[in-house]
Amino acid sequence: NSTPMSQTDGLLARHRAVMPNWAGLYYDEPIEIVSGKGNRVVDASGKSYLDFFAGILTNMIGYDIPEVREAVERQLATGVVHTSTVYLLRGQIELAEKIARLSGIPDAKVFFTNSGTEANETALLLATYARGSDQVLAMRQSYHGRSFGAISVTSNRSWKNNSLSPLNVHFLHGTDQHLAQFRGMSDADYIAACVDDLRHVLATAVTKDVAALIAEPIQGVGGFTMAPDGLFAAYKEVLDEEGILFVSDEVQTGWGRTGSAFFGIHNHGVTPDMMTFAKGLGNGFAVGGVVARGDLMDGPHAAGVATFGGNPISMAAAGATLDYVLDHDLQANAARTGEIIIGGLREAATRLPVVGDVRGKGLMFAVELVDPATGAPAPALAVRFMEETKKLGLLIGKGGLYGNALRMAPPLTLTEDEAREGLGILVTALETINDEAR
Ligand code: PMP
Repeated sequence: NSTPMSQTDGLLARHRAVMPNWAGLYYDEPIEIVSGKGNRVVDASGKSYLDFFAGILTNMIGYDIPEVREAVERQLATGVVHTSTVYLLRGQIELAEKIARLSGIPDAKVFFTNSGTEANETALLLATYARGSDQVLAMRQSYHGRSFGAISVTSNRSWKNNSLSPLNVHFLHGTDQHLAQFRGMSDADYIAACVDDLRHVLATAVTKDVAALIAEPIQGVGGFTMAPDGLFAAYKEVLDEEGILFVSDEVQTGWGRTGSAFFGIHNHGVTPDMMTFAKGLGNGFAVGGVVARGDLMDGPHAAGVATFGGNPISMAAAGATLDYVLDHDLQANAARTGEIIIGGLREAATRLPVVGDVRGKGLMFAVELVDPATGAPAPALAVRFMEETKKLGLLIGKGGLYGNALRMAPPLTLTEDEAREGLGILVTALETINDEAR
């Protein structure tokens, strides 16, 4: 029995009895987090962890942040948790104004949802309404959520479960430069091949006008895979010729996370027609949304409501979180602390053959583990690595097409000392796994 001693009430067994078998848990002995402060959490056994996963990017500015707690408590003190979106909601309007301004999208308007899935569903509805088309382009290895529309544009079959898609979707190259067919190509040649393929898809695969391309600037669940610089700009040129809309899924890459831009797609010099967001904006409270060109948002068939989307509690948390990010220039902090860690990991990679790749931007970075002898993806080593970092007091994530990418996205409030502490644990664990794998 692998249930931790600390779980005297057999919580793991109860989880297995009452939750679906695909509600997966990390670690041989899954942990129950009982408290958090700053960039650390504590489990039921009293063990403390530095959090390099931030609840899978939900806790964007860490735990127990007075500004967020007080904003939520002020709203609770009014007696109104939520009434309805048929009334004027001040918090919603103020936050929408800020997001519209930060988006860089001309005449932008904002619609709030409760999750990233709903945000993408809304964007797909807007785009297909606007273009009168069910044809959509997405990227290979993408993840956009679990509703019928969002799952349609999610490409990896292990995340899809079925193919009952309401949309007609074609998946594009862009993050698969490692494939044999592209091996040895320069970035410029690879991008040219991708654009050729896009033109070929438009000429042959789709039956009528295409509504949109939806893409993650850095693929999250896909293992923090990145398109080469220039790919999205090259795609945008073709899309513009055809009037096809570009939707940037910023659920993981928004709010300064990449350090070099406030929204991930701005790293590519591309202004999208729509962006979707969720996860970290509420710092733990459920919030998502779409920011889009006003003419698309205002479309004649686009009427929609979301009962709890943009509710006063979520808006209080999200407003306080966004202000905190801006007031403390956490984008610059992400660039600074991310460089310490990514630089350190790249240095370690030069002497540890178990590291197949180090990639990322700002506080969104991944390490791929490979068999040192063959260079083949090594998902079993990734599982071992997770246990090792847990033992050393660091929470991280796992993902990627082959399950061998270790994904890390600490709170944007990470200090330089914490960056060095986390890097130290990562390098120690990599050395251990490298020794074991030899
Ligand atoms: N888009 C991306 C890029 C994501 O990473 C996720 C969540 N992993 C989603 C959409 C879906 O968000 P949610 O789980 O809030 O529905």
